Amino acid sequence: QQVNLATLVSDTVSTFQGAYEREFQFKKDTDTIFVNGNYGQLEQIIYILIENALKYSKDKIEIQLSQRKNLAIFAVKDYGQGIPEAEQSRVFDRFYRVDKARSRDTGGTGLGLAIAKTIADQHQGTLSVKSMPGEGSTFSLVLPVDKVVKDEITD
Ligand code: ATP
Repeated sequence: QQVNLATLVSDTVSTFQGAYEREFQFKKDTDTIFVNGNYGQLEQIIYILIENALKYSKDKIEIQLSQRKNLAIFAVKDYGQGIPEAEQSRVFDRFYRVDKARSRDTGGTGLGLAIAKTIADQHQGTLSVKSMPGEGSTFSLVLPVDKVVKDEITD
């Protein structure tokens, strides 16, 4: 299934803008970035990353979609509590939550990012985080771009 990530991300951001009183900054390079994959699953990753940014920060959220060579890059940046370096690789583990006492009042199971990582893997993509405690976090999803015009000629 060929999915236009630019449309999918725009639609998802609009849904969030309609539902939350929060400043969303959305920048995209282009209106067409095709990736090969499952629409519903890709939508789920985008949801999980934006929902976490909303949950673990109070200020604006920056969402960016860009293309670098044959890679599509989707990034969600927040100015929230951040994640200590030692915990950054563990947030993708199932049921892992940073600071259990503090995260109790934000709720959640600790499954979101594990699901997101699994979906990224299934799409030959990578999901990563850059974060500084007290400054915020950026989660990035990188996916291979699907060529729009398929070469039908076989020799
Ligand atoms: P659920 O998936 O049910 O929403 P969750 O948010 O706890 O629960 P994950 O999405 O897997 O689960 O996140 C795991 C942990 O990573 C969170 O509990 C939180 O401590 C940390 N985390 C995730 N996103 C952010 C973020 N944007 N800023 C700071 N910490 C984060």
